[in-house]
Amino acid sequence: RTAKRNLEGNAELLHVLQESLTGIRVVKAYTMENLQRRRFGRVNVRLMRQRLKMLLLDAVVGPAVEVIGTVAAMASVGVAGYWVLNGLNGMDAETLLALMASLAGMFEPVRRLSSVSTALSSADAAAERIFEIQTLRPETNAPDAQTLPPHREQIEFRGVSFRYESAADWALRDVTLRIPAGETLAIVGPNGSGKTTLVSLLGRLLEPTEGSVLIDGRDIAHCSLRSLRRQIGLVSQDGVLFNATVWENIACGLRRPAREKVLDAARRADVDEFAQALAEGYDTMVGQHGATLSGGEKQRIAIARAILRDPTILILDEATSQIDSESEHRILRALEEFRRGRTVLVIAHRLSTVMSADRIVVMQAGAILDVGRHEELLGRCKLYRTLC
Ligand code: ADP
Repeated sequence: RTAKRNLEGNAELLHVLQESLTGIRVVKAYTMENLQRRRFGRVNVRLMRQRLKMLLLDAVVGPAVEVIGTVAAMASVGVAGYWVLNGLNGMDAETLLALMASLAGMFEPVRRLSSVSTALSSADAAAERIFEIQTLRPETNAPDAQTLPPHREQIEFRGVSFRYESAADWALRDVTLRIPAGETLAIVGPNGSGKTTLVSLLGRLLEPTEGSVLIDGRDIAHCSLRSLRRQIGLVSQDGVLFNATVWENIACGLRRPAREKVLDAARRADVDEFAQALAEGYDTMVGQHGATLSGGEKQRIAIARAILRDPTILILDEATSQIDSESEHRILRALEEFRRGRTVLVIAHRLSTVMSADRIVVMQAGAILDVGRHEELLGRCKLYRTLC
């Protein structure tokens, strides 16, 4: 038990450290240094106690076994010696000495066994934690998984409901929606209405609790993950960049893409201009989460990445944070050309995006409240008017 707590304590300590370091800006800006230090201290002290307990157990077991062993040996030698010397059991003194010598020879190995037992139980605790992770269900292809051919007909959500394991309430309730290929569909709704959950189902980042998602009439649960995800381009602003070069961030996930193709994608997404101006051009490291770039630049890299993969389905998650209008204009222009001939689902936050969409879905509390064009919805949907 102590060994297991020890391991958990280690994990907790790393967690607190990582949280403070990655969130260092917030920690400083809100002067949370003392709070974080106390949190770290608490976890640290707890871990220290566990460690001390472990050391104490280790320290007690060895000597205890030794003392018990020695006392037992002395007692038995005393009794046996008495019997032999008084001729009570027919054994002679030489045999007794030989027996004693053999027993003494066994003593050391047996004593060592006791330290094996503590080693075994800490290995056991470690194994338990490994198995906890191993028994998590990995993302797998169904045994009958088929390759999904390039999408050209329609996407269909058929009676889809979804509940997060940790949540009591449904995040999506009985959503049915048909999206013909080539359509640009804007999804709007208040925070927490299920927009992100809905688009996550399309790439099987989440599996529906009930109902199914079909692309061109095929249930995506029976399609291979690779063939499905290769067709989906995802552009969002947050957490999209890796701590690597601009080039690697565009080409990521592809094995040796042609140089020309990467440059072309960068040009079309308007990355080229600012990338050339960086100290080392495309080989400049962007820092963790793209810390050295502006929001608009990050988004343009994300667009270049999507263009390079040439997906049939595009999922856009519009930035909620402010991007200057010059940047916004560039992003819109890059996307305008790119989305032609593709099915686009956009989680929309800007009126301009919503108005340029073919259809708009209004979501509320996990359900579809209304679907239609801008003018129609303005006339009949109160929530939509409010959102506008
Ligand atoms: P939106 O994108 O419209 O803001 P989401 O799809 O992110 O909404 O969330 C829908 C609902 O699911 C919300 O009530 C939210 O609290 C809940 N939710 C989202 N992600 C999780 C999660 N990982 N675990 C539990 N509940 C979640």
